[in-house]
Amino acid sequence: MASAMARESEFLFPKQHLPGSVHIEWKRCGRPWCHCASGGQLHGPYFYRRWRENGRQKKQYVKLADLWRTLEAIKLKRFELPPMTAIKTSLDLAKRSPDS
Ligand SMILES: [Zn+2]
Repeated sequence: MASAMARESEFLFPKQHLPGSVHIEWKRCGRPWCHCASGGQLHGPYFYRRWRENGRQKKQYVKLADLWRTLEAIKLKRFELPPMTAIKTSLDLAKRSPDS
């Protein structure tokens, strides 16, 4: 019985599953002459996956190339997705005002 359940959960949750959820962050670069220092638009978006491991909070940078794969992997495990509209808006904003 236990083995049948294991097989089923393997089917539902393939090996590439990841724990946690993806968060969007915007950064100040620290250059005093940059627009971000005077309240202008911050740099980003940068994507991070956060999860708990052995009771400790972990954080890993997610490359844009890996973003969709990471979201898929998280969805398979936890059915938790960051608001896709927020990501799309962030990417549109980033396109409109390129990093200086
Ligand atoms: Zn800056």
